[in-house]
Amino acid sequence: TTVAAALSTVLSLSLAACGGDSGSGSDGKAASVGIAMPTKTSQRWLNDGQNMVDELKGFGYTTTLKYADNDPKNQVAQVEAMIDSGVDALVIASVNGKAFNDVLEKAKSADIPVISYDRLILGSPNVAYYASFDNVKVGTLQADFITEGLGLVNGSGKGPFTVELFAGAPDDNNTRYFYEASMEVLEPYIQSGDLIVRSGETEMNEVTTPRWDGPTAEKRMNKLLDSEYADQDIDAVLSPYDGMSIGIIKALKEHGYGTAAKPLPIVTGQDAEVPSVKSIMADEQAQTVYKDTRELALVTAYMVNSVVHDKKPALNDLQTYDNGKKVVPAYLLEPVSVDKSNYKQVLVDSGYIKKSDLK
Ligand code: BGC
Repeated sequence: TTVAAALSTVLSLSLAACGGDSGSGSDGKAASVGIAMPTKTSQRWLNDGQNMVDELKGFGYTTTLKYADNDPKNQVAQVEAMIDSGVDALVIASVNGKAFNDVLEKAKSADIPVISYDRLILGSPNVAYYASFDNVKVGTLQADFITEGLGLVNGSGKGPFTVELFAGAPDDNNTRYFYEASMEVLEPYIQSGDLIVRSGETEMNEVTTPRWDGPTAEKRMNKLLDSEYADQDIDAVLSPYDGMSIGIIKALKEHGYGTAAKPLPIVTGQDAEVPSVKSIMADEQAQTVYKDTRELALVTAYMVNSVVHDKKPALNDLQTYDNGKKVVPAYLLEPVSVDKSNYKQVLVDSGYIKKSDLK
């Protein structure tokens, strides 16, 4: 039903788009949109950039697309250059959510509306709207997968079980939403002793991973295995992102996990990236959280088109995302938990991933 609901959203938005105004500036020329994306190291952001270009083209806009190599300063400079070049709107998936205060003042003076894409921009009142997924639900789905997988929910699992926790980049606002939602699920089991975090590292600032970097997660996992799990196996790892999960699994395999006698722990993930879906098919990574970035691009293009024409876009969350200066009105899409049992239906049948890419 989630998929059906999501599809109907897309349909209604597409229809609204067809009937509405399209992208021309007040001078009648094609309006232009600057798109700032964080990094090319992850397939999801490559897709996001291309999808945004395609969707905005569909609305009649020209686009400038920039990637920031995960460098906040670089990204701010890119956005500033877009403002100077006279774009009519900005779509920003920020590297550091707090880095945009001054540059968005400049956007405001130039009357350029800003849409926060996937990640919320903090500390600036000059953010018109936020298009993202239900980030709380992402964290809940990841942690639920662990507690259900270990049998803690229905009581079939004989604990206590060991778990280690990873969070994403500290400067990405989403990190907090994912991690806090996961901990909301895990904490009662940690309190009761059914889950044991041997490292004791449960505070977010102890477990963040700068730039969401896979090798950094791999390094930390190696360290944890050496220092805490020499005499006892680890049962689960909370990983918030597929690229990190791949690194974590590498460390686990180097430590002898992945055999019948020493099975891999439950490792979660996010984004349904091809290497992780293959890993799920091979019984290595246990889960990922799928977010249909095609829909996110469509919703965002629709927002851009609305804001450029001084119209209100469709919104479904007016209270969650306080950026410190304003509560940013949002449209949030539904994330979906994916594992070996449903990857085909959810990812392949929907056309998100080609069957041939999973060979
Ligand atoms: C996104 C996730 C992604 C992560 C790393 C987050 O802001 O919401 O989908 O896994 O960044 O790129």
